[in-house]
Amino acid sequence: LTEEESEVLKRIDREGIDFLRLQFTDILGTVKNVSVPAEQAEKAFTEGIYFDGSSIEGFVRIQESDMRLKPDATTFAVLPWRDTSARLICDVIDTTTGEPFEGDPRAVLKDALARAEKLGYEVNAAPEPEFFLFEEDEEGKATTNTNDAGGYFDVAPKDLASDVRRDIIYGLEEMGFDIEASHHEVAEGQHEINFEYDDALSTADNVATFRTVVRAIAAQHDLHATFMPKPIAKVNGSGMHVHFSLFTDGENAFHDEDDEFDLSEVAKQFTAGVLDHAPALAAVTNPTVNSYKRLVPGYEAPVYVAWSDRNRSALIRKPAARVPAASRIEARFPDPSCNPYLAFAVLIHAGLDGIEKEMDCEDPIRENIYEFDEQKREEYGIETLPTNLGEAIDALENDDTVYEALGPHVGPKFVEAKRAEFADYLVDVSDWELDRYLETF
Ligand code: GLU
Ligand code: MG
Ligand code: MG
Repeated sequence: LTEEESEVLKRIDREGIDFLRLQFTDILGTVKNVSVPAEQAEKAFTEGIYFDGSSIEGFVRIQESDMRLKPDATTFAVLPWRDTSARLICDVIDTTTGEPFEGDPRAVLKDALARAEKLGYEVNAAPEPEFFLFEEDEEGKATTNTNDAGGYFDVAPKDLASDVRRDIIYGLEEMGFDIEASHHEVAEGQHEINFEYDDALSTADNVATFRTVVRAIAAQHDLHATFMPKPIAKVNGSGMHVHFSLFTDGENAFHDEDDEFDLSEVAKQFTAGVLDHAPALAAVTNPTVNSYKRLVPGYEAPVYVAWSDRNRSALIRKPAARVPAASRIEARFPDPSCNPYLAFAVLIHAGLDGIEKEMDCEDPIRENIYEFDEQKREEYGIETLPTNLGEAIDALENDDTVYEALGPHVGPKFVEAKRAEFADYLVDVSDWELDRYLETF
């Protein structure tokens, strides 16, 4: 056992933990758990816990279904809403080769980080997930009725949810999260919680856990928390902006105090790489049919492939940074329905591609691009993101860098699952169509 693993065994004893939840995610980003009695902890570390991978979305074919979970001792956390249970995030091991399983999203992200490391970089990430809190009906089912009428940065009594948000934050902190800030968002019932930056793997682990924690604690208040990107038409949707920076030997490689925007050449090349691959990235960072209802002009979500040092209509923004360590770029297009491991992996690969190819970064756009007409957009050479999931999947298949970033297992499985999801949507007849056409024709 490693030192960290022995420490976990001691904590299990000391803190009276009865059950361990071994956590991993499927390709679609859904958190999966295998629960084992705490007495199994030592065995879990030394031998791993076997499970049948054929029942997990996109993992394996039925013929080769034995997988092994290898817990990462550094991720031990007691569940705040069930304090005799603790969770451990696991790597998935292929039992035939003993190697990390290529279909494990965590392994896909580790590959991206290994590429960054080869180039001399550590990747830091900080997400800003937004979500809605909705009331439940008498049967406990989610509605789309918001429980408050607050707006941006409002406080109680208008922000009735501040109690819930406080409980959520206590819960997250108990689990070891460093929360930077939280506030009421623009829409009624909409909230945002910002994490301190951390290495990209820990941050992805935290995002995966975050959704579970938020939902569990909201449910204790009889509320349903949703990370669906656009639950209500014609009001702001929920994004998950992600701030990135690369560090070399503890120094921020994105910072250059002599630059007008405090950004180094490396930061600009990374930005250029993300912009260059944006349409394909969208398939992973905005992976649902509903994601594209958010990416429309007018609701603070980006649509146009450009960067800006001030306005929010661009895909990438350079936030104001007071200290060198804070120089970073903010990718504004991801939404919280994404698989955080895969989304970070493809974004990192795209950025590194920009660095390796020394891509040129255009000047930032300072005007509000929402107000540009097509002619002006053409003049500036500004492209748009895919307008629906089908287009995004096409773009993904046509972009070798992004497709290959997902690895040989996840790439095809992801495309297959998303094509099926989009095909299912296309044959549906929506309420909008019935309202519009049923009595007209
Ligand atoms: N809710 C907006 C979005 O969909 C973002 C608002 C903000 O700038 O925080 O991305
Ligand atoms: Mg926000
Ligand atoms: Mg933001």
